Amino acid sequence: MNPLRSLILAAARNGATRRLVATAPVSRDVVRRFVAGETTEDAVAVTRRLVDSGLAVTLDHLGEDTTDTEQAEHTVRAYLDLLSALGPLAAHAEVSVKLTAVGQLLDEGLARDNAARICAAAAEAGTTVTLDMEDHTTTDSTLRVLDGLRREHPWVGAVLQSYLHRTLDDVLDLSGPGSRVRLCKGAYAEPESVAFQEPVEVDKSYVRCTNALLAGSGVPMFATHDPRLVRIIGERAQAHGRPPGSYEHQMLYGIRPEEQLRLARLGHTVRVYVPYGGEWYGYLMRRMAERPANTAFFLRALVTRT
Ligand SMILES: Cc1cc2nc3c(=O)[nH]c(=O)nc-3n(C[C@H](O)[C@H](O)[C@H](O)COP(=O)(O)OP(=O)(O)OC[C@H]3O[C@@H](n4cnc5c(N)ncnc54)[C@H](O)[C@@H]3O)c2cc1C
Repeated sequence: MNPLRSLILAAARNGATRRLVATAPVSRDVVRRFVAGETTEDAVAVTRRLVDSGLAVTLDHLGEDTTDTEQAEHTVRAYLDLLSALGPLAAHAEVSVKLTAVGQLLDEGLARDNAARICAAAAEAGTTVTLDMEDHTTTDSTLRVLDGLRREHPWVGAVLQSYLHRTLDDVLDLSGPGSRVRLCKGAYAEPESVAFQEPVEVDKSYVRCTNALLAGSGVPMFATHDPRLVRIIGERAQAHGRPPGSYEHQMLYGIRPEEQLRLARLGHTVRVYVPYGGEWYGYLMRRMAERPANTAFFLRALVTRT
């Protein structure tokens, strides 16, 4: 892995760095580029703007690694609030949930029950839920919870990360009828015992998994901003006889917005992942680690302010 990326991801887990960055006044400006705002109203306003421009949305209430049942309950209530506030926007906007934000580190059963409450509210609102995938120590537990949730709500989506050695097998398991699988490269610092370290290997794995998903009978959701992969996905989709609309492109809020609109104008479903809420630190650090230019942007802003 790129040493700068490892350094930023390590800093992300350091308490002192977290306090420094989270309280620096300039952080707010940088955060606004990637995060919709702190409140349900902010999230709904950004969703409305994106939907009006022809995009679909998945909303993430920020937070992760919760070791406090009250905090987990707070997150569930935030999702319930959001789902009831979406109204007609729910036809174009779903939610993404991190199980560690709803209690997975405390007890898998608690996380499953909390996720089930969010799924029931999503069903009532007329939309869907996708379970985000976090670091590899949570993968088996997340797939178990997914399996349980899908018995009642077969539309619950999964995320699989092409940097993990295991992922092609997971893709084959999950590419059956009606399944919704989001394929991404993966955003955490993972050891070589479980994950490819070279970008070229991660990309090759991404293409293998793309082919398997397109050959399956579910709805693949390709989450990448990588121009080369976006082109390959288009070519492979054609080869598999998959018209636009039978799969999704997904990108993060604030990253390659022109490309999002270009793909939508070509008739593709493009879903933008929109995070909101006060717990933006871990999310922001992963975005910094992906692109040194983002860190330079942040540091420049810091220097200009001081
Ligand atoms: C909808 C969505 C959901 C996701 N869910 C998860 C998840 O559940 N679990 C998980 O581990 N990861 C998740 N990710 C993150 C993902 O794993 C990658 O870390 C992230 O998408 C960057 O990889 P990339 O495929 O865009 O390729 P990269 O090789 O990282 O980037 C390719 C190009 O995209 C642009 N780009 C990429 N990232 C940035 C950035 N931060 N800022 C500016 N430009 C950028 C640049 O032009 C770059 O050259 C998700 C990503 C998306 C889009």
